[in-house]
Amino acid sequence: MLNRHAGVWSLPALLSLIACPALAAAAPPADAGPARTAPPSWCPPGGALAAGRLPASVPLASCDLRGRTVQGPGGLAVTVPDGTAAVTAESLRTDGADVLRVAVDVPAGRVRIERTAPPPPGTAAEPGAPGLTDASPTPDATDGPPATDPEDEPTAAGPDPDDDESGESGDEPEGTGSEVKGQPAAVRACRDRTWRASTSAWTRGRTIFWRYYGGASIEGGISAGDAEQAVRSGVAAAVGARTDCTRTGHFSPRPNIRQHYLGRTARKPGIGRRGGCKQPDGTNSFGWLSLGGLPSSTLAMTCTWQGWRNTVEADVALQSDDKAWWSPAGGEDRAAGGCPAGHYLPAAIVAHETLHVLGLDHVKGARHANLTMTPVAAPCDDRMATLGRGDYRGLIALYGPRR
Ligand SMILES: [Zn+2]
Repeated sequence: MLNRHAGVWSLPALLSLIACPALAAAAPPADAGPARTAPPSWCPPGGALAAGRLPASVPLASCDLRGRTVQGPGGLAVTVPDGTAAVTAESLRTDGADVLRVAVDVPAGRVRIERTAPPPPGTAAEPGAPGLTDASPTPDATDGPPATDPEDEPTAAGPDPDDDESGESGDEPEGTGSEVKGQPAAVRACRDRTWRASTSAWTRGRTIFWRYYGGASIEGGISAGDAEQAVRSGVAAAVGARTDCTRTGHFSPRPNIRQHYLGRTARKPGIGRRGGCKQPDGTNSFGWLSLGGLPSSTLAMTCTWQGWRNTVEADVALQSDDKAWWSPAGGEDRAAGGCPAGHYLPAAIVAHETLHVLGLDHVKGARHANLTMTPVAAPCDDRMATLGRGDYRGLIALYGPRR
């Protein structure tokens, strides 16, 4: 049957088709629908896609990433959600930390990709936290939002909830622990007001129900019971704003978010051996996994899944292989003084990961090494186990005070 629109074709157009059979052959078939351009070179049709080769904002029309795997820095990877949702992967290593976040916005027709910024060209990566820790002295970021670089999320900083908090000791010795990393003096944890928000948090006032996965055999000489206790302690410390800065042992008022431990689960944290965030499974699972596919320096990894607005699930995995873990028997109230050299404290690492779960991001720079959200963990370093002022201010900004 003749195309009834053939009559509107101009003679030059017809002639060009006749004169150029190759062009005619390349024309899309009549039933191909809207014209489609070939996918960009950075969007090969199969396999995982490297986040570093993708634009920060990917139009779904030119490269539909949904359901595919995006690989980011430090071995992190995420499965891109099918609908409007976001996944954030964070890893903490002995030598730094990485973040990969993929957010699908179907109405806008875009996938936004954020990852740890690579070190600026021509500069040596700072040993400690490539791409996250400023190599140069940090401008004063102790008041208000810290400086951000172009790949950073906008940093929010709310009003200080407790400038006149009573019971604050404020007498922490100057320079506590800052010598550990051989860096310039860090601001004291009780004075350092810096924090950075991620882009997702739980609904204010809700209770996060979570379970413990202890199925992996843990290397490094920590008992199963102590391991479970340490994870519980780390979660409670973060959510309950535990601190050494007050006589009560916690900041007041507490942030308006709660956690409740539901016991053990057989459901592993939804984190692949190779560092990929899987699809959420409805259980917030915190525990131990073999993360052998990630760099050998990896201590822990957290996946956070966000729905339309808020976080809906989070899983935390501590590295069960090739790391020496130690926890004081009997829980968090015992000093870390007995920590054997080279061992890491799970309660401290879990407190850091739990603040990721709650919506905080890393604070950059050696000045902030005393905060829980510093992206560097050292052996036997228990500073992360209790919150600094900035960590607390971030939680109050996200959740408000608990009434
Ligand atoms: Zn982290």
